[in-house]
Amino acid sequence: MKNAMLSIVAAGLALLVPTTAFADDHMEADAPKWSIAIHGGAGTILPENITPEQRAAYEAALQEALDAGKKVLANGGSAMDAVKAAIIPMEDNPLFNAGRGAVFTWEGKNELDASIMDGRDRSAGAVTGVKTVRNPILLADKVRTDSPHVFLMGEGAEEFAGRQGFEVTPPEWFATEGRRESLERMKARELSALDVDLKFGTVGAVALDQNGDLAAGTSTGGMTGKRWGRIGDAPVIGAGTYADNRSCAVSATGWGEYFIRVGVAQEICTGLRATQTALDLLANPGDPRAIISEAASQRVADAVMEEVKELGGDGGIILATPQGHTIFSFNTAGMYRGRANSEGLNEVAIFGGEEAGTSATPDH
Ligand code: ASP
Repeated sequence: MKNAMLSIVAAGLALLVPTTAFADDHMEADAPKWSIAIHGGAGTILPENITPEQRAAYEAALQEALDAGKKVLANGGSAMDAVKAAIIPMEDNPLFNAGRGAVFTWEGKNELDASIMDGRDRSAGAVTGVKTVRNPILLADKVRTDSPHVFLMGEGAEEFAGRQGFEVTPPEWFATEGRRESLERMKARELSALDVDLKFGTVGAVALDQNGDLAAGTSTGGMTGKRWGRIGDAPVIGAGTYADNRSCAVSATGWGEYFIRVGVAQEICTGLRATQTALDLLANPGDPRAIISEAASQRVADAVMEEVKELGGDGGIILATPQGHTIFSFNTAGMYRGRANSEGLNEVAIFGGEEAGTSATPDH
């Protein structure tokens, strides 16, 4: 297995080799003031697996989420608020596997996971196995702001929610027929969660605000037929979500077990931080080449996703950098995704090879 950290630092050092290839490093003056990226899951999302109507519905839902986040950032709001604003409509939309429309556990329940992280101080909040909170991302943030803890589970998390004034949302709100059928098909034909769903539907957002602060958040129902209290990567800080102003903000979707093993979100941020440290050490003060380029950030993300693939996992990530870049890396056929920035960028895309941050490692 290739060592991702080595390729990462090599990517950083390559920036200092005298070549015009780093022309896009000279971007200080016109760097975006804010930027945001969102995802609604990755997977075997091919044009033949989706009707034109479904495609339009997903694109509209992604744009709605993007618009909610953009509005916060354009008005000078924080990256944290933008991340929450973007995730809430996706949690409420049954198209996605988060909040309403979450997948079912083996026992036929919807158990929700979410996490959020503030790049300013690396404060973080996360919940797992929550059944009665309409927007788990808001509860995760409450854990961050109003508890001495980072990660709460199940009934304890719900008791905390009640004390914080969250309404109890009945289980019917989350349950949808399509997801119930997936569970039944899985049980009847002994399919794996991936065979039955073809895609991961976790939602997430990453953002850079006008203050230069980064934030990341992720929300999910997990994987169809999960049991024995299984927890995926989405609520695990460092695996499904990570934000650090010094390096990046990441939200992931995919086969959670592999993302936990690789520590995907933190690994990408650590890689970028190592790259920046190498550049700072090697460059003369003020050398514009010491700013990590979009291409170098993409390579760092791809190297970590390559590790996931080598171990047998699949999925994707969204990444926001302090330089204002928004990046996607996925090793699945497609990923529901979108991104926007203060310079007028606005893209939503579904399939691999489409414009919005085409994955550098398409597999199909
Ligand atoms: N990563 C999630 C999990 O493993 C699934 C998803 O991305 O949809 O729980």
